Amino acid sequence: MATIEQFQERLRRAIRETVQKCLAEGDLPEAQEGEARFTTIEALALAAGDAVSLEVFEQQLAESGMGPPHCPRCGFEGQRVRQRERKLQTRRGLEVPLREQECYCPGCRRAFFPSVQSAGAGRGL
Ligand SMILES: [Zn+2]
Repeated sequence: MATIEQFQERLRRAIRETVQKCLAEGDLPEAQEGEARFTTIEALALAAGDAVSLEVFEQQLAESGMGPPHCPRCGFEGQRVRQRERKLQTRRGLEVPLREQECYCPGCRRAFFPSVQSAGAGRGL
């Protein structure tokens, strides 16, 4: 299994050309008056990081939402009732939209959210 550093290095290689292309297009947000060059670059770097983060969240969360929902209490296959949307904040303060499927277990007669468990948001808080 890859380490975080290996994943980062692989991702960096994969997006190198895309970043190069976006920067070369030149349509960049204007720097504030008197702003240091480093600060301008930092703002772009942070925005780029957030953009990549959102993409990772979106793709990984979409993947975890697939398959039939199973009740966490009895394991019975639940019914999808509706979707609710909320935002989660990452450790770095990035707001990630989260679409959660609300399910209902007829056996336990209770609602549950399968995505909460697979996203890890319902544990260790
Ligand atoms: Zn159940």
